[in-house]
Amino acid sequence: MKMRIGIGYDIHQLVAGRKLILGGIEIPHAKGLLGHSDGDALLHAIADAMLGALALGDIGRHFPDTDPAFKNADSAVLLARVREDVAAHGWKPSNLDVNVIAQQPKLMPHIESMRERVASILAMEKADVSIKARTNEGLDAIGEGRAIAVQAVVMLQRL
Ligand code: MG
Repeated sequence: MKMRIGIGYDIHQLVAGRKLILGGIEIPHAKGLLGHSDGDALLHAIADAMLGALALGDIGRHFPDTDPAFKNADSAVLLARVREDVAAHGWKPSNLDVNVIAQQPKLMPHIESMRERVASILAMEKADVSIKARTNEGLDAIGEGRAIAVQAVVMLQRL
């Protein structure tokens, strides 16, 4: 088999008193994503998609939120470890596509920086990393600015 595909999804609450870390960068906002780690739902969704492509479970299994080692963990480090795990199985990401669903803050000014950061963590070309932002049209918890959700699809190819 020459290609494998995986899907990932994550959602985190937006709360006061946390930095907003998304796509491996810090984004100025009054609230940040709640989580045992830094709460970076975008990197978590990508990691889940990569693990899913090889049927290796999810990041909750690889990095349990009951493990103090991952308290306030840098999700970029976790994603890099998933990349190494995937490489150890003989695969690497070919391209990926991400939907970020956030009512606030406006993410458009940060998309290019997030693409560069994700490409750097995964040793990919920026052109192979797509990140798209949309709102939830004011509907439900995401639309009320109480959470950010992320969907990711990753294609893997043989090393
Ligand atoms: Mg998460």
